[in-house]
Amino acid sequence: MSRSFCVGAEDHRGCGDNGLVKSWVEISGARLVENLRAVQAVAGAGVETLGVVKANGYGHDAVLVARVLVGAGMRWLGVSDVEEGARVRAELGEGPRLLVMCGIELADCKEVVGKGLTPVVWTVEHIAALEQAGEAAGQRVRVHLEIDTGMARQGVDLDGLAAVVERLAGSKWVVCEGVLSHLSSAEDAGSVVTERQRERFAAALEVVVEHGVRPELVHLGNTSGVDEGSTMEWVRETAARMGARAMVRTGFALYGYCLPLDTGAVGALGSRLKPVLEWKTRVIGVREIEAGTTVGYGATFVAKSLMRLALLPVGYADGLRRAGSSGMGDGWVMIAGQRARVVGRVSMNLTTVDVTDIAGVAVGDEVVLLGEGVSAEDHAGWSGTIAYDILCGIREKFRVI
Ligand SMILES: *Cc1c(COP(=O)(O)O)cnc(C)c1O
Repeated sequence: MSRSFCVGAEDHRGCGDNGLVKSWVEISGARLVENLRAVQAVAGAGVETLGVVKANGYGHDAVLVARVLVGAGMRWLGVSDVEEGARVRAELGEGPRLLVMCGIELADCKEVVGKGLTPVVWTVEHIAALEQAGEAAGQRVRVHLEIDTGMARQGVDLDGLAAVVERLAGSKWVVCEGVLSHLSSAEDAGSVVTERQRERFAAALEVVVEHGVRPELVHLGNTSGVDEGSTMEWVRETAARMGARAMVRTGFALYGYCLPLDTGAVGALGSRLKPVLEWKTRVIGVREIEAGTTVGYGATFVAKSLMRLALLPVGYADGLRRAGSSGMGDGWVMIAGQRARVVGRVSMNLTTVDVTDIAGVAVGDEVVLLGEGVSAEDHAGWSGTIAYDILCGIREKFRVI
């Protein structure tokens, strides 16, 4: 762990030792940078990399992560919304470009201009509102136009595209710097869904160019798009043909994760990544229970023999999923490098784990809730979700890097 930076405590031990903090997260800045280099290497020379720090950096803290990435030379960051963009801008200053990825409200446009944010847009109304805000401030507003090629979420579809591009082409203050779309099934190599999305994206790019709009950046892929490979190659070629640069928007990979390819194989990128986050707490109680003792709500667990339990000050209110309860997902934590299984139900602020076979566990011992020996994928497995969801759901009190 790099300890070059720490929030709210002298060093990371302080976070656990001061008695006030129930759990904390440690981020390895070094691993974050290594993952960035892996993305850059696999994406290929000349491809611009945007680091997605939306949703508070997938639970890692957008500002901490942004600092490390920008320190490593990253020029583009992706944030969820204007509020998050303003927060990152306030902490990082004028340096990085900030793409607001998840839509804007028309009332946000003044803030977009004032904070130098770059919104993803797809309606005539977006452009009109930004035009007004840009004119009022006497500033050009760069935007990225999103095409809906098959997610039915954000973006303009091919039928509505001409009207939006005409508005952009005729705009004095709004500049179309980039065109993007998003894949629904990027981890599925050779998927017909991806094939159809690429065709629609190519058709949309033609409409854009026909209207005399010349984007500098073209982007389609996320982590899995880079990992899978063929999408990245397609974007590079497509961008080059129109005199633009390819960009990739990667989040998950920077944090050290990648979905498996549909073939079950690990892709070119996935094999090079290491998780950067560890979520930790400390034991706040140890007790022995006799055979026949019930544990936790619903008395769902009954000890079959003498057991030793450790009490942890973390529960589902902190993001430790209730689905990890024994008899449900049967989750575990790591203590002294060994698995300690959850016993009974995870409750709101407390969880008990079995330390019968781990010698010498005492109050104050460090516990890894998520990290070495218990990955975000493990949590996702017992919770019936994906690792993205687990990382975003952690609600600890301190992050250190
Ligand atoms: C979240 C997001 C990404 C990043 O996806 P990862 O799988 O985390 O790399 C890229 N593009 C868009 C539009 C997104 O919403």
